[in-house]
Order: sequence, then structure tokens, then C-alpha cells
Amino acid sequence: MSATINHFIGGKIVAGSSGRSSAVFNPATGEESQRVALASAREVDLAVQTAKAAFPAWAATTPLNRARVMFRFKELLEINRDKLATLIGREHGKVLADAAGEVTRGIEVVEFACGIPQLLKGEFTDSVGTGVDSYSLRQPLGVVAGITPFNFPAMVPMWMFPVALACGNCFILKPSERDPSAPLLLAELLLEAGLPEGVFNVVNGDKEAVDAILQHPDIEAVSFVGSTAIAEYVYHQGTAHNKRVQALGGAKNHMIVMPDADMDQATDALMGAAYGSAGERCMAVSVAVAVGEAGDALMERLAPKVRGLKIGPYSDPEAEMGPLVTQQALERVAGYVDSGVEEGAKLAVDGRGLQLQGYEKGYFIGGCLFDEVEPDMKIYKEEIFGPVLSVVRRPDYELALELVNGHEYGNGAAIFTRDGDAARNFTTRCQIGMVGVNVPIPVPMAFHSFGGWKRSLFGDHHMHGPEGVRFYTRMKTVTSRWPTGLRSGAEFVMPTMK
Ligand code: NAD
Repeated sequence: MSATINHFIGGKIVAGSSGRSSAVFNPATGEESQRVALASAREVDLAVQTAKAAFPAWAATTPLNRARVMFRFKELLEINRDKLATLIGREHGKVLADAAGEVTRGIEVVEFACGIPQLLKGEFTDSVGTGVDSYSLRQPLGVVAGITPFNFPAMVPMWMFPVALACGNCFILKPSERDPSAPLLLAELLLEAGLPEGVFNVVNGDKEAVDAILQHPDIEAVSFVGSTAIAEYVYHQGTAHNKRVQALGGAKNHMIVMPDADMDQATDALMGAAYGSAGERCMAVSVAVAVGEAGDALMERLAPKVRGLKIGPYSDPEAEMGPLVTQQALERVAGYVDSGVEEGAKLAVDGRGLQLQGYEKGYFIGGCLFDEVEPDMKIYKEEIFGPVLSVVRRPDYELALELVNGHEYGNGAAIFTRDGDAARNFTTRCQIGMVGVNVPIPVPMAFHSFGGWKRSLFGDHHMHGPEGVRFYTRMKTVTSRWPTGLRSGAEFVMPTMK
């Protein structure tokens, strides 16, 4: 019998009571390592009531003291970075160095949240009228929830809760059921850092728990990251239940390579961006748009490198890429490669059917590289979420830009060029939320905000950074007068300042 991963409610592990659970696998071996409890609506409600009870005291804790908890949490994350990376590697499959990098990107959001006293400073106007002052402040919302995907089990939750907690909210995290162990360790570290019990809770589950969150009257806001179909569903359901929602969805990130680019640099950039984390990143580059002569120059450099990718389990320090997350993911990605071949794209490197000695049941696939991909093909239109790079050739920049802007997703895009004018034209005209110039994965730092355009984000606010603070707080504006004016009698006309 596998052990069961449970919930974390009110500062302690709480065993699941729904009778439902699902398997958690080690993607390198294909073995079921543990099971995870799947919460019912009743268990979600227990977490919400616990968080609601903890809210008044936490909201009344000064921003400085909330920041101090974040400072201690940051320290604990650094001490536990390797432990977290191992939990991630074991359940997600990504190699340890990559997993440790994910933890570092999460720590950066905690560092941003440590500045909450400064971030919550409001606006003050002296004398909006004679003897009348006005100030605006931002207050926490109450109980807020985060629903997160499998591909960054530590970082994506940390895009959300450090900012939400620092702003004075209580938080319910519903992590991915594929790799739930790292989020539970985060909950324990928060408690150890001094966060009061009940302020942060983890409820494991699937659609049933998500629906319970979306419909719960005491949850004020929902942050979601995952695939576009579910992001759209979460946005519509959440807003229909009067919640503030930010729902980040899927992606198909393009990288334009101009003929004047440094081809070796562009090739290395594509290798890391397309195949790192086995392509299971929402900012992975899955389409290289080669302009003019860049096509041949890129293909001749890319193909041998893709063939030479070092693939292995998370624990292999030499490995550049691990397995996919589940057997279903493996079948889905291999199916896309089949469809690309059927639709006439040229498969320059075929990673299907890869078998690693000692890991024959693992969910491994080698790097795949397509040339001559066209926009009407399924492998171009849909997010594959695996180590598959499509090269699309275009004769000039305008047609390359048209391709980028014509896609339904608008998460990230990059241009590689030595021409500042072309780069500036691209950053101005592309319909994309996060843009790189000679930077393949332009993930904004924690003190900026992360989010795509078009069908990569539903809602108004991007995540973390200043947009995160706005999302997790609401503004209150106070107009105050202290002298004798109130005694002058009631005013029935629209008040104007004198
Ligand atoms: P997913 O949409 O399957 O799952 C995300 C979350 O939604 C999980 O917590 C899951 O339990 C829940 N969920 C799944 N099916 C549901 C349903 N029918 N109803 C309600 N909830 C449901 O995504 P995933 O496979 O875990 O993650 C990969 C996807 O996430 C990719 O599409 C990737 O691009 C996207 N992603 C986007 C970003 C971004 O910033 N835009 C970042 C990371 C991942």
C-alpha cells in the first residue's frame, strides 16, 4: 500500500475523508510512489472556514510584522532548497538543477513580498478642500485561493501566496494532484517561519475541489495557472460567483530568428528554451520562426544538438532533460509527433520510442525537431507541452510578425537579431504579454509582473510584482475633516470642495 499525501489545514496535516484518492508517480521509473487524497466540497469548506477565522488577526498584523514572517520563510526556503528540489524531481521528473532553479525563482517572489510595508504605502493629499485631507489605502480581500499546475509545483504557488499573505489575506492552495509534495513542505516551512495557523492551507484535489473553490461564497479571489480550457472555465465560473479572478492559460511561444542574428547564440538559446524541463514550461519556445537564410543555418546547427541531448532521471547530474510527467503526457506528445509527420512536416530528429537502460518504464521521449512546419498543421496550432520544436520558415520579418500575431496564444515571444530597429519594431507591434530581445525565455523578475495576452490570460491582472499587490488588495479612499465644519448643517447638493 502506498502512503497517502493529505491536506494541510489549520497548521496541521489533516487526513482526507472523501474516500477518493489518485496515484502519484515517479516519472523516471513509472512506479506509483504515493497516493494523494482528493478533497470533497466539505473538506474545502473546512479549509475556508479555518482561513476565515484566522483572517481578522492576520489582517490586523502590521505589514512590518507580516514582512518579518516572509524574511524567515525566505531563509527556510534557502536551507531547504535541495529538499524541495528532490521532492519536485521525484514527482515531476525535472532534473535537480532545474528544480532548484524553480525554487530560486519562487524565493525571488518572497523577497519581493518582504518589501510589503513599502508596497502598501498609500497616497495622501493634504488639503483636498479647506481643512479637508484625503488618503487612499489598500486593504486585504479576505480568504483567497490559488489553483496551480503540475509543471512548477513550487514556483507557481509562490507566484501567488507570498504576495497574498504579505498583503494580509489568508490563502487556500489547491496544487496539482500530479506532484503535491513540494507544496505541503512549503506549508510546513511557512508555519515554522511564524505564520499563524490557518492563514495558509493546502487542499489537495481535482475538479471537485476546484469547483468547490469557485462556488464558495467566502472566497474573495482566485488565482489560477494551467491549461487554457480550464483557465477559461475557472474565469467564467469564478466571476459568475462574484470573485476576482486571474487565470493564466497555455502558450505557443515563438522565437523569430533574423538572418543577421548570431546563429550559434540563437541555437543555444533555442536548445535551452525548447528542451529544458522537457518542454513542459509555459514559457518554453515551441516555434522557431526562421527568416530568410536563417532557416538552413539554424537547422544545420540544431539537428546534431537535439540528437545529442543528455536525457536521464532527475537524480542524474549529467542529464539536461528528464522524462515527461505521466504516461498520458508521453502518449499525447508522441501523438502530436505522429500527426506532424502525417500532415507533411519534415521530422529532422525523431525522439519517439526512447528507452533508457534501467528506466524502461519511465515516461521518456527524446528531443524532436520539425522543419517546414506550416500554420494549418495541428503541431503548429496546439500547445504540445513536450520536447518538440517546430521550425517555420518565412521569407521576411513582416510575415514572421504576422505569424506571431496570428496565433491564438500570446504568452511569450522573442526576437534574435543584431538590428536594434527590427527589435524595437517587434517589441512595439507584437501582440504578446512577455517579450524578449535576444532573450529566449523573457520571464519577468518578481518585482515586475508575469502574464500573457489573448488566450494565455483571462482577467485583468498579471501575477506577482505590482499587479499582484493590486490583485490581492482593494482600495479604500478616506476623506477626513476635523474642524467645526460638520456643525454647519446638512448639505443636500453634490459635495464639492471649498
Ligand atoms: P491543467 O489545466 O490540467 O491543471 C491545472 C489545475 O487545474 C490543476 O490544479 C488541476 O487539478 C486543475 N484541473 C484540471 N482539470 C480540471 C477540470 N476539468 N476542472 C477544474 N479543474 C481542473 O494544467 P497542467 O497540465 O497541470 O499544467 C500544464 C498547463 O499549464 C499548460 O497548458 C501550461 O501552458 C499551463 N501553464 C501556464 C502558465 C502561465 O503562466 N500561463 C504557467 C505554467 C503552466
